[in-house]
Amino acid sequence: MAIREVITYPDDTLRKPCTEVTEFNDELKTLTDDMFDTMYEFEGIGLAGPQIGVNKRIVVIDIPEEDGSQGNNKLVIINPVIKKLEGEKVESQEGCLSVPGYQDTVERFERATVEYQDLQGNHCVFDNVDGLFAICLQHEIDHLEGKLFIDKLSRLKRDRLKKKFEKIKKEQRAAAE
Ligand SMILES: [Zn+2]
Repeated sequence: MAIREVITYPDDTLRKPCTEVTEFNDELKTLTDDMFDTMYEFEGIGLAGPQIGVNKRIVVIDIPEEDGSQGNNKLVIINPVIKKLEGEKVESQEGCLSVPGYQDTVERFERATVEYQDLQGNHCVFDNVDGLFAICLQHEIDHLEGKLFIDKLSRLKRDRLKKKFEKIKKEQRAAAE
């Protein structure tokens, strides 16, 4: 178990498309354990491979209980594919561990059907799920296509964010020297 470094915007790693997982072994189990550790450390509800520098189609999700506690709804989602998006477009207040300290409202579909494999490689499906889980699935699977929630914002907002985060990176590099 280990907490990994979270890659932050605008790093190119977040933009690379991800390859399929073909081996369901101990290494994959360790990787997903690390993803949960990292996600909990930074108080997220979902994390995708590219966010820790692994460009593979791997997502972990743990939707909190009503009292905010986590651990009961842990899901390892390998090679997910969105089969259907349905219902109304809903407004979703989102943040992302790769865009720290920023939240904004974006549009998502109300319901999603997603095929995936579990940690053992079994083929499974989330059939027409809704609520926060459906939104989280869309957010995390976007990561696997190199997309971020901030891509859905206006150009003006995106330009401002890019400048802000580039400045932060520059300051971090300067401080490290
Ligand atoms: Zn994210």
